Amino acid sequence: MDLNDTKQERKKLVDRLVSSGYLGKKEVISAMLKVPRHMFIPEALRYSAYVDSPLRIGFDQTISAPHMVALMTEYLDVKPGHKILEIGSGSGYQAAVLSELVGDGRIYTVERIPELAQSAKKILEELSYSNVSVIVGEGTQGYADEAPYDRIIVTAGAPKIPAPLLEQLGEGGKLLIPVGDRRLQELIYIRKDGKEFKEKKLGGCMFVPLVGEDGW
Ligand code: SAH
Repeated sequence: MDLNDTKQERKKLVDRLVSSGYLGKKEVISAMLKVPRHMFIPEALRYSAYVDSPLRIGFDQTISAPHMVALMTEYLDVKPGHKILEIGSGSGYQAAVLSELVGDGRIYTVERIPELAQSAKKILEELSYSNVSVIVGEGTQGYADEAPYDRIIVTAGAPKIPAPLLEQLGEGGKLLIPVGDRRLQELIYIRKDGKEFKEKKLGGCMFVPLVGEDGW
């Protein structure tokens, strides 16, 4: 990959995600065209930044594959002004994509590994994603300080849906979470409708484990 022409590499990746059906909404396409994924990856792996694959970011964690970020972002149905909670900041890349979509809204992203939270915060600041707050914490308990949220996205695999996340979801809110065993999960989509939670299964996925009180 030519690191001097990452724009061209991003365009090729996004075109492939569009033709394979992962991307469709024009605002999501434009967000993924803008965010420089290579900047969220350890330098030694940057040449792979625009391959559709998860990559190691240290501490046994990974940045999700671009098609998974595309699919989750499309389903999340983000609107300008939304307040969004992400559990599992990892590299900060997913938060940056969401940041492009919320306008004057805000992203709160919770990460349990302080070193990853620190590097995500640093790169998000360097790239001027000023509407993202990175919080070091145990995300199975959500982040009650800023609840309720319009959208909640969990980017680590859970054994079950943590009750605090359902409690922190606002009226009409949407939650995306991979649920299953430690290796393989199913992506679950939940919409809060009055007192009811409507659930839909979106298919198989593989995330690193969500670790914590209501996790592994
Ligand atoms: N969204 C990330 C990828 C996340 S990988 C990105 O765009 O790069 C999953 C992350 O979830 C890991 O960094 C892991 O440390 C974190 N994680 C696991 N359990 C957690 C918990 N209970 N609270 C917060 N973060 C957690």
